[in-house]
Amino acid sequence: MALRKLVAGNWKMNGSIAALAELDAIAAAAKANGNIDVAICPPFTLIAPAVARTPELTIGAQDCHAAAKGAHTGCISAAMLVEAGATLAIVGHSERRADQHETDAEVQAKAAAAIAAGMRAIVCVGETEAERDAGRAVAVVEGQLDGSIPRDGTGVTLVVAYEPVWAIGTGRTPSVGDVAEMHAAIRAKLGALLGAEGAKVRILYGGSVKPDNAKELLSVADVDGALVGGASLTAAQFVPIIEGGA
Ligand code: PGA
Repeated sequence: MALRKLVAGNWKMNGSIAALAELDAIAAAAKANGNIDVAICPPFTLIAPAVARTPELTIGAQDCHAAAKGAHTGCISAAMLVEAGATLAIVGHSERRADQHETDAEVQAKAAAAIAAGMRAIVCVGETEAERDAGRAVAVVEGQLDGSIPRDGTGVTLVVAYEPVWAIGTGRTPSVGDVAEMHAAIRAKLGALLGAEGAKVRILYGGSVKPDNAKELLSVADVDGALVGGASLTAAQFVPIIEGGA
């Protein structure tokens, strides 16, 4: 089943009020390519200004806390993100799994909190280079899905992003064959976890998606979009990626 594609940009800890000028051309490209969904996830402080600048563009967050409120200094709840105008949240990015030691159970709770607040959750999974070299890539990702996917997730509320850790920010990407094998394995696992709904959950590829490889990666079976880091920071690079998916 061909699902409507989603091309999402993850600005990570980059950007500024001035950088939001990039959103004008990105929003225009989203409008011009209405057969796919487009989103940008800037840092928390830029969410409300981004929504104010381009209200027609989907704006998301890069994380949310699992709890609704409380004594969690420096954290942001899903409801706060919704109030700021976010409609989706990335959870379980490998940089947070590594730097903040987030576990699968925490990622699952964050995804559930995002969904309960009315957002779409993009749950990230992906193997390290050592795990791939050891022939364990599929098993590692299946294990992450087991632990991180909320079992009431649907094609509307849940998106999965497969991001091999070794491909993020490195300019390296898996072969088309390896992407196809992994996305087929993720599709099968989602079916086992979510039943018929698993066929409706979009599976994004992420890791060094650029204008020159986007079209090929986005044409692989069961690649239902892309999660883009570095190349989402400028319209000059992100717009051709949007066009590659459309
Ligand atoms: P990259 O990052 O496109 O810069 O490799 C992707 C990501 O981490 O989502």
